[in-house]
Amino acid sequence: MINRVRGTQDILDLTLYNFVLDKIKEHTQLYNFTHIETPILEYTKLFFHSLGSTTDIVSKEMYTFPAKSEEESICLRPEATSGIIRAYHENRIEEKPFKTFSYGPMFRRERPQKGRWRQFDHLNFEVINTASIAQDALFIKMLDSFFSDKLNLENYVLKLNYLGCSKDRKQHKKALKNYLDKVDSKICDTCKVRKDANILRIFDCKNDTCQKVYENAPKLTAFLCDECNSEWKDIKEKLQILSVNFIEDPKLVRGLDYYNKIVFEFASPLLGAQSTFCGGGRYSLGKDVGAKENFPCVGAAIGFGRLLLLTEQNINNLNLPTQPALYLIIPMDKKQYDLSLILADELTANKFCVDVLLEGNSIKSMMRKANKVGAKKVLIIGEDEQQTGTVTVKNMQTGEGVKVKQAEILKHL
Ligand SMILES: [Zn+2]
Ligand SMILES: [Zn+2]
Repeated sequence: MINRVRGTQDILDLTLYNFVLDKIKEHTQLYNFTHIETPILEYTKLFFHSLGSTTDIVSKEMYTFPAKSEEESICLRPEATSGIIRAYHENRIEEKPFKTFSYGPMFRRERPQKGRWRQFDHLNFEVINTASIAQDALFIKMLDSFFSDKLNLENYVLKLNYLGCSKDRKQHKKALKNYLDKVDSKICDTCKVRKDANILRIFDCKNDTCQKVYENAPKLTAFLCDECNSEWKDIKEKLQILSVNFIEDPKLVRGLDYYNKIVFEFASPLLGAQSTFCGGGRYSLGKDVGAKENFPCVGAAIGFGRLLLLTEQNINNLNLPTQPALYLIIPMDKKQYDLSLILADELTANKFCVDVLLEGNSIKSMMRKANKVGAKKVLIIGEDEQQTGTVTVKNMQTGEGVKVKQAEILKHL
C-alpha cells in the first residue's frame, strides 16, 4: 500500500469545510474585501527578503526545487502575505487601501503533530497601503465578529500586544539583553542562541522555566515613544467602542521579522498546546518585492485546519446545510437500463437529486443498499413496469409503495 505523505491529510467530508468557507466569503464581502488568488509556486528569494533568512520558516522549513542559480530557485509558498504584496505591486493595483481575502494551501517541512501539518490551508486577509489605526480596529472587529457571530464560537480569547516602531524596539532589545545576561544560567540553550540571533523570539519558548524567567522581563510597551504610546491607547479605545473583548499579552511578539505596531492572536484552550488559530498584525512590506517604498499594511491568517477543529466542537450550534433528499432508481434488469437513464436525466433536469443503482443483483440487496445511502424514495422499474409504462415508487420511511404512470412521475414526486 502507498500511504499519504506524512503531515498531509485526506479530507473526505467537506461539509463543514465548505460551510465555514462560504461563511467567510460572505463575511469578507460585507466588509468590502476582494477575493483574490496568488500562485502556490513563488521565487524562493521572495521569502528570503520578506520573512528574513534567519527565521525557522526560511532556514529550515521551505520546500525548494533545485535550479541552476539561486536567482531562479522556486519553492512551494510557506505563507501567503509575501505573494499577495508581490501581486499588489506587480499588477500596479492603485486602490488604497486594497482589502483582500484569499485562501489556499501552504507548505512547511515541520515535525507533524496535532493541529500542525506540512500542507495546510490558510485563510488570508490583508488591508494593503493604509497606516490608519482605525483600519486596524475595524479589521480586528471583522475577525472577531466572524468567530463570535458567524461561527458562534465562545471559548476563545483575543490577545493584543504593541511592538512600537523600530526605535522603541531597539531600546527594548537593549534592556531585554541586559536582563537576560543576568539570568543566563536559568534559560535553555535555544533561548541562549535566540538571545543573540533574534531576541524577541525567546518569548516563543515552550520551556516552563524560561517562561517563568520572562514574566519579569522588561515589557516592550514600557519603551514606546509618545506617538506609539498614544496609538496603542487609541486602538484599545476603538476596540472597546466596537465591543471587542481582548487581553494584553506582553509576551506576544509573532515570529516574523516584518511585524511592527499592533500584533494579535486569537487562541482557544480547546485546541491544546497549539492554541492559536488566527494571528496577525501590522507590517510593512514592499521594498522586498521591488517597490520604491514599503506599504503599511495590516493582515491576518487563519489556520483553517485548526479553525475547523474548533468549529467541529461547536457543531450543534451551527445550521449546517442538509443533504438534499435522494431519489434512487432501481432497474431490475439490463433491459430497463435505458429507460432508467432517461428517467434519471429528466429528474435531475428538474432539480431532483438522483442516482441509478446499476450494481445490484437481487431486489433485496438493492433495497438494503438504498437504505444504507439514506434514499428518500426508490423508483423501481422491472419488466412489468416497462410493459405498462409505469414506475413503482417506494417511500423508504413508511415502506409504502405505489405504481405511478411514467408520464406523471414528476407531478407525483
Ligand atoms: Zn515608537
Ligand atoms: Zn527557552
